[in-house]
Amino acid sequence: MNGEEIEFAAEWSAAALRLMADSGIPPSPENYTIWFHYASGRTPDLNKEIDARIARHEPVDTETAIALHEQFMGDGNLTDVTISTGAKLNTEVDRILKIIEETAGNSSTFGQSVRAASEALTNHSTPNDVAHAVEAIIAASRKMEERSAELEETLHATKSELNDLQQNLEKAHSEARTDGLTGVNNRKAFDEALAREMAAASADGKALCLVIGDIDHFKKFNDTFGHRTGDQVLKLVANCLKSGALQHHFVARYGGEEFAVVMPATEIEMAETVANKIRETVQARELVKRSTGETLGRVTMSMGIALLRPGETGAGLIERADGCLYAAKHAGRNCVITEMHEPGVPQAKAS
Ligand code: GH3
Ligand code: MG
Ligand code: MG
Repeated sequence: MNGEEIEFAAEWSAAALRLMADSGIPPSPENYTIWFHYASGRTPDLNKEIDARIARHEPVDTETAIALHEQFMGDGNLTDVTISTGAKLNTEVDRILKIIEETAGNSSTFGQSVRAASEALTNHSTPNDVAHAVEAIIAASRKMEERSAELEETLHATKSELNDLQQNLEKAHSEARTDGLTGVNNRKAFDEALAREMAAASADGKALCLVIGDIDHFKKFNDTFGHRTGDQVLKLVANCLKSGALQHHFVARYGGEEFAVVMPATEIEMAETVANKIRETVQARELVKRSTGETLGRVTMSMGIALLRPGETGAGLIERADGCLYAAKHAGRNCVITEMHEPGVPQAKAS
């Protein structure tokens, strides 16, 4: 983490507390989290929602904060870390301020010492008086020096503590977006990536494809070999997707045994080629139970692909990719159906 980010985190924390104080909102953990995120501006939809409420003169009370929290964050782990990080940042900032105040206090003490020593000197002062005054000034300077060294040491310790806090926060952020079983991105991460990539595609006019894949007859596989073995298959399928997708593609577990790949800057023909490669890799893997050597056969996957249309919503794109997936299941499974769309005339093509 660079110094700028440390400053931002402390700034957001302070801004959150200020906003809450200004609006008479009690500093509960729920309220703090919402306003910390608001101040950071990292969740634009949350900010939009809060701004709209304020514009409608609706209160953003604790109950609302809890609802907003569920709507926009929905991960307890992240929240706990955010709260404790925010609280710790505040403590750190308070500590620094206290030392700075003390040092400033000392420097005025220093000023007084020097003034008192110099005032004690007159035209009639003896060399001895001068020596005393100089000694007093040197003693006061030493004291100042000690306080500065102490301040510097504390600032170093604080910086390293803030680094640790930031790393914890980043780790929690990444864990909150990773699927625990397969290690690929989870649904929350998918939703964010799709929105982000759709906005980018609209801005730069590049093609964006969405692939949704679903394991064929997976219920039967679970019923035959057990849920835990089914879990291993989900991991294997996720690995096939990760290794088959291109570097800039975004692979996620969309639901139980459904996966999605967001493919920015990818024409539909390329999306189809990549999807078919993944499908073939899955089909080619002969499943063997490691503990017993038992052969479990193979699993296959059906996939649907849709190309983003201008002005379309994420839900619309998902619905069309899902429609193609449904068509792939009906076409006999283990295949990829691509929506070859011409303006206004969508048309499905089996591959
Ligand atoms: P289809 O070819 O039509 O997709 O048939 P299917 O049996 O795969 O479809 P269905 O939707 O009926 O079943 C999906 C199954 O996926 C049911 C559920 O037990 C299984 N499943 C979902 N999530 C998990 C999971 O996390 N682990 C395991 N082992 N199975 C899961
Ligand atoms: Mg399914
Ligand atoms: Mg299935």
